[in-house]
Amino acid sequence: MTDAVNDEVIEIAGAGPAGLAAAITLARAGREVVVHEAYKEVGHRFGGDFQGLENWTSEANVLDFLANLGLTTDFNAGPGCVVTAFDAARRAYRVHSDEPLFYLVERGPGPGTLDSALLAQAQALGVEVRFESRLRQMKGEGILAAGPRAADAIAVGYHFETTMADGFWVICDDDLAPKGYAYLLIMNGKGTLKSCMFSGFKQEKLYVQRTLAAFEQLVGLEMNNPQPHGGSGNFRIPASACSGPHPRVGEQAGFQDTLWGFGMRLAIHSGVLAAQSLLTDESYDALWQRELRPQMKTSVVNRALFELLGNRGYGWFLKRQLAKPDLRASLRRQYQPSFIKRLLGPWAERRYESRRQDVTCDHIDCHCIWCRGACCAHPDQEGREG
Ligand SMILES: Cc1cc2nc3c(=O)[nH]c(=O)nc-3n(C[C@H](O)[C@H](O)[C@H](O)COP(=O)(O)OP(=O)(O)OC[C@H]3O[C@@H](n4cnc5c(N)ncnc54)[C@H](O)[C@@H]3O)c2cc1C
Repeated sequence: MTDAVNDEVIEIAGAGPAGLAAAITLARAGREVVVHEAYKEVGHRFGGDFQGLENWTSEANVLDFLANLGLTTDFNAGPGCVVTAFDAARRAYRVHSDEPLFYLVERGPGPGTLDSALLAQAQALGVEVRFESRLRQMKGEGILAAGPRAADAIAVGYHFETTMADGFWVICDDDLAPKGYAYLLIMNGKGTLKSCMFSGFKQEKLYVQRTLAAFEQLVGLEMNNPQPHGGSGNFRIPASACSGPHPRVGEQAGFQDTLWGFGMRLAIHSGVLAAQSLLTDESYDALWQRELRPQMKTSVVNRALFELLGNRGYGWFLKRQLAKPDLRASLRRQYQPSFIKRLLGPWAERRYESRRQDVTCDHIDCHCIWCRGACCAHPDQEGREG
């Protein structure tokens, strides 16, 4: 850390997990921070949706990991130890892990959400959060944390109230969620149901209908007051995650787990790294490339392999996963770089690159999440690593 007192205000565009994690880290080091948030509240694009905070990429529990970064864990987090997965033939596989594979957290502005907890911590540290302030240009020191700039995957469905008991269910079936998975997550009388698809965006309504029907038949889905909800995800491993002098963090940089679309943890981690780079003058690119890139590169290979499976292979994959005595440790290994994964890297990246433009969507008279989202307005022209 530099010795001289630096009183320049640091601006952050975006009060998502990435921007708020950066703000907290900077404020804890005594820096003055202003966060601009385009909407009138945090987590606007998620409004009450459930998401899984993944807990397998490090041996340390993700909540301890956050605490060690100096971040609050004062949000509702339901441990995901038991998940029921179905293959395309509707065979059920019960996944059990002694330690949670993920924690279910709520997103949006309400009480107990991840976003509200991070906001409260940031404000308690003196961070100024300006709502309804869309930053268009960054002049001085600052961090770009404005969320996805392209859509490589979309997750579409509903969140709702229910009297169903808590539970987590996944279906791997290309007829419900092409190249992805359909999921149903229930906790404390609320639920979310989504088709998370990596292709077929133009037919999102059909896939959501099929997902609804499948969960009605398999687990007796009961949705009260359903609210349509969906969003896009941006996966990319950029050559540089800086725009001029400004670090890009979270999904603004394209940081996500390419296999399943878990982005919160990478968003938070990258926000902290960007803040550290401003505090220490260390290169942000060097930091994220050391800490995040190996795992992201492996997840691209994992995605390419997953896409080879198709409906006939998903059952085999799920059965194989279940045979592991310690599923969490096994998942962690799958995200570690290995000789084989490094060898497959160039093939996987070529395959994935070619799929980033969804061939099933021609963008003509289309209202899919992808065409409605930011991706078409901001075509991503930045270089990608080969
Ligand atoms: C339906 C869905 C389900 C998901 N499920 C999971 C899951 O289960 N687990 C998981 O880990 N991840 C999940 N993700 C991904 C996860 O939500 C993102 O990776 C994560 O929110 C990224 O955080 P972020 O801070 O980079 O961006 P965001 O959370 O998008 O925050 C960016 C913020 O910037 C604001 N903003 C935008 N432009 C400007 C501007 N110019 N000026 C000021 N503010 C601006 C936005 O309003 C927003 O509040 C899911 C995504 C979707 C769409």
